[in-house]
Amino acid sequence: MSTPLVFKFGGASIKNAQSMHNVASIIGRFNHRPMVVVVSAIGKMTNAFEEIVSKWSSGKFEEANTKIDAIATFHQQIINELFADPTEINEQVAAIISSIQAGLSRQDMTYSEGYDYIVHHGELISSRIIAAYVGIEEPTVWHDTRDLVKTDGQFRRATVQWDETSRAIRSNIVPDKINIVQGFIGSCPDGRPTTLGREGSDYTGAVFAFCLGADSLTIWKDVPGMLNGDPKTFANTQKIDALPYNEAIELAFYGASIIHPKTIQPLKKKGIPLHIKSFKDPSLPGTTIGDIDQPEPTVANFILKKNQILIQLSTKDLAFIAEHHLSAVYNLFAEQGVVVNLMRNTATRAMFCIDNDAIIVPKVLPKLTRQFDIELTSSVELLTIRHTNEEDEIRETGGLDILLEQRTPYTVQFVFKRF
Ligand code: ASP
Ligand code: MG
Repeated sequence: MSTPLVFKFGGASIKNAQSMHNVASIIGRFNHRPMVVVVSAIGKMTNAFEEIVSKWSSGKFEEANTKIDAIATFHQQIINELFADPTEINEQVAAIISSIQAGLSRQDMTYSEGYDYIVHHGELISSRIIAAYVGIEEPTVWHDTRDLVKTDGQFRRATVQWDETSRAIRSNIVPDKINIVQGFIGSCPDGRPTTLGREGSDYTGAVFAFCLGADSLTIWKDVPGMLNGDPKTFANTQKIDALPYNEAIELAFYGASIIHPKTIQPLKKKGIPLHIKSFKDPSLPGTTIGDIDQPEPTVANFILKKNQILIQLSTKDLAFIAEHHLSAVYNLFAEQGVVVNLMRNTATRAMFCIDNDAIIVPKVLPKLTRQFDIELTSSVELLTIRHTNEEDEIRETGGLDILLEQRTPYTVQFVFKRF
């Protein structure tokens, strides 16, 4: 088998029939085989599935069913536009819709298990539609990623079991075809569906690329490549042509949302280049992340994380913050899945800037309060500048109420509140 090409298409690239057609024509430009195409759920469907989860978990089954009907209709309209003869794809999608409905009556699932059960159907449907549509022109095979990506049983943030996954992927990818798979999903050892965390399909792309020793991974986006900041937030952003793996890992870590943070590491391990290209204009060169020394061009990078909460802890007995305090806090955070974006401690205080997750934070706070005096500042934002210079800093932070600032040789971070 020659080394595969792996493509990943996210929700925005397949948001309607026209975009699906565009994706099929991009795939049609490449005759490299095998090709593996990882797809997300259509458009904002994962959010729609999350609404079903919320109805299901609060026992509002009728409302959940109404939402499932709306999702079925939405997909049906796309199918009607794409297919002259939709008989087979209709049957496949109908089976997936029944499987979602069947989940509603199950009382035996925890919230997180039920979440994965319901939400993972979005990728099953989109990948079926893409496979059927691409299959009209090209030899195509659809795989069930639950049989390929094996994970542990941590629902909503499952960890890939590399050995089993690698074996399953290698023995199932068909060399002379376009292999269509779902991003974001997998299954745990007893077969129940799991997910890898929101926006996890990029990571799935890296998992397939790694296991197959792929030629490259290409993530197709609605932007011409990676920019040095989100253009919706920052003025005068610039496109980055090339970026070393380590720099991309740092940027993703600080919250550059263009790629899922876990995506780069497996690629780096095998020296597989990652291309970020525009599905709106595939002829543009995009950005390449790989084994290179210097970013091209060398510019400062700006990353803003919104919806953060700043937690300041001090001991109840006025003791200094010591290692055992921090270790207790981090154990709790690890157990509950808290994402710490910045941490700093002084003699009597430990400060954590964390994602203000609506489910996790309310669970963690009472536990912290038992052990520490806590002070909370909600609705804060975290600005990170990599390769900063004075001019950039003054421009970006002028007039902000900075609550915390942290500096390392290449990076400066500001926690602030906007008024
Ligand atoms: N559909 C999933 C999500 O929206 C996974 C992904 O898009 O990467 O989170
Ligand atoms: Mg998505």
